[in-house]
Amino acid sequence: MDNSRCFEWLYGEEEKYQEELDGLIYLRESEADYEHYEEKIRFTQEQLVGVKQSILRLENSEKTGYSPNWKTFSRLTRIERGWKCDRCKINLSDYGELLHIHHKNRIRNDNKGNNLETLCILCHAQCDGHNHIMIGIDDEVVRVIVSKRQSMHKELINKGFDLDVFIENKEHDHILRKYGLWLQALANGDILPLTESQNHFVSVFQKGVKPETTYENAWQSYLHQISNKARPTQIIPCDSLPDNGIVFHVDASGKHGLEAQSADESSVATWDQAKQLAEAHGQDWHLPSKDELTLLYEQRIVVGGFTDSLYWSSTETSNRDAGCQSFLSGHQVVSFKFNLLRVRAIRAF
Ligand SMILES: [Zn+2]
Ligand SMILES: [Zn+2]
Repeated sequence: MDNSRCFEWLYGEEEKYQEELDGLIYLRESEADYEHYEEKIRFTQEQLVGVKQSILRLENSEKTGYSPNWKTFSRLTRIERGWKCDRCKINLSDYGELLHIHHKNRIRNDNKGNNLETLCILCHAQCDGHNHIMIGIDDEVVRVIVSKRQSMHKELINKGFDLDVFIENKEHDHILRKYGLWLQALANGDILPLTESQNHFVSVFQKGVKPETTYENAWQSYLHQISNKARPTQIIPCDSLPDNGIVFHVDASGKHGLEAQSADESSVATWDQAKQLAEAHGQDWHLPSKDELTLLYEQRIVVGGFTDSLYWSSTETSNRDAGCQSFLSGHQVVSFKFNLLRVRAIRAF
């Protein structure tokens, strides 16, 4: 029902209950059966209050742009999402009013799940055009949120790390055993970087920036070691072996899997060009299908060298377009085949 029909109906209900109430009160004053009327009057009054509240909510929603049941809906959504800020990951179950729900497309009554982000008030204030939120934030609020963010870091730092690969460099080994869990959370985006050097660390593992610091090199060598370990050591000799690529998936048998080129093709390409470029690497090399591309995205840190852009899949969605994957957001989307996207060839073995 659109709002104008809602209003029409609600005003009708309001009038109906109001008339009923007036009639009952008149009858009570003129007739003798007192007790009986009291009960009816109370019931009708309650109905009338309910209708008036709905009218208020609807009027309010016209004014603010939020849906009429927004308050309840927002609370339920925050409960459902565990009171966690989607960006800095802190839990605000004890300060529920500091957790907001942000509409990504700015349409305040578009409450589809993928349009909603639960954000702490500080993360929310950092969204474009949300500066006004900052004005309402006092020192106490900042203190609560910052200390929650810091304690997420502290907890991880103290937890140690079960280092299950051999690291030759003693200093790296030491750093990993002590801070591995914390570095892992930073690299995976499970916690928010709080300092410039942590920011740099994150950009190394999420954006492919060159590692510079000891911590960055330590985590890099750890990733390198686990990717080696992930390579099937016992490939049973058959005619399909990896062809010098980086293995990023092995099936349950441990004998077959997928490997990728260690770098993107040097230039972006249309979909037709992308297919040719991939196949030019030799027998069985090809453009990844939609599903293969998802596996590749999941192992992007192990494989390395990706940019935050769209990559072609071989999966066609029509004559005109084909599927591709954003290596920034992880979403799969569809693009016109004439668009110029990045290409990473893979091979099944
Ligand atoms: Zn936050
Ligand atoms: Zn917002």
